[in-house]
Amino acid sequence: MTAAWPMNKLAIHTRTTRNWDLRSCCAKYQQAGIGGVSVWRELIDPAQGGVSPDEARRIIVDAGLVVPALVRAGFFVSADTDERTAAIDDARVAIRDAQAIGAEQIVLVVGASPGVPLEHARSMVCDAVVAIADDAAQANLRLAIEPLHPMYASDRSCINTLANANDICAQIAHPQVGVALDVYHLWWEPGLATQIMRAGQAGRIFGVHICDWKTTLSDPLNDRGLMGDGCIDIANFMRSTEAAGFDGMFEVEVFSESYWAMDPDQYLALIIDRFSNLGTNPSLLND
Ligand code: ZN
Repeated sequence: MTAAWPMNKLAIHTRTTRNWDLRSCCAKYQQAGIGGVSVWRELIDPAQGGVSPDEARRIIVDAGLVVPALVRAGFFVSADTDERTAAIDDARVAIRDAQAIGAEQIVLVVGASPGVPLEHARSMVCDAVVAIADDAAQANLRLAIEPLHPMYASDRSCINTLANANDICAQIAHPQVGVALDVYHLWWEPGLATQIMRAGQAGRIFGVHICDWKTTLSDPLNDRGLMGDGCIDIANFMRSTEAAGFDGMFEVEVFSESYWAMDPDQYLALIIDRFSNLGTNPSLLND
């Protein structure tokens, strides 16, 4: 059985292997032949026990890894002006840190607030992204708006479909502003293939995140499935992004209390096994 995608197309979000610090993530990923690491901010924040961004850069370069993304900035929606300003200031810190570690993009989880009507929230997001887009451009960084599944529409993201994200990107019309496509959030969307093609034709697919959707979720946030655990045709999703022009790495992003309880080396081996099996068709092989 030949893997459909080589290991150098695989990147892993550090949150996926949450039991490891950045040094361990990079060493283990390198040993496994993985191409990239998407870095969550706590690992490059000394105040949270992480290394400095400059130290992070040295660790990443030594491991020969690409950094598709720094995760994350955003949460731009609030009825309180000071909170909105603070979120924009924080995004500028993220831009500085992303540049320091050599990341290609920052993932934006744009925010939502129970007291703010969704259409109003979306205009707050537009204002905030416009405010930081030139800063990102000067740092040679892309900003990837990540639409989140509508179950997060009250408190995490007022942008819940790729169609809406595409509309907002078209409205902002900045070359550094595009989308991160996470299969967990988008797999259910009617007309998804058309929206993926639309994003690709506009040159706006900056990131692709993969995991799986388990039919019975024990937790809406921390019970994601690993590829093969659930119901999504992940390989088809990946191929549709490539057909739309995406040529970056596929980032495995899994938040899972049950996987975090596993031995982390065995878990990494399982991630690699599942990635290697994507796009191979066992039913044909058994014929
Ligand atoms: Zn994601």
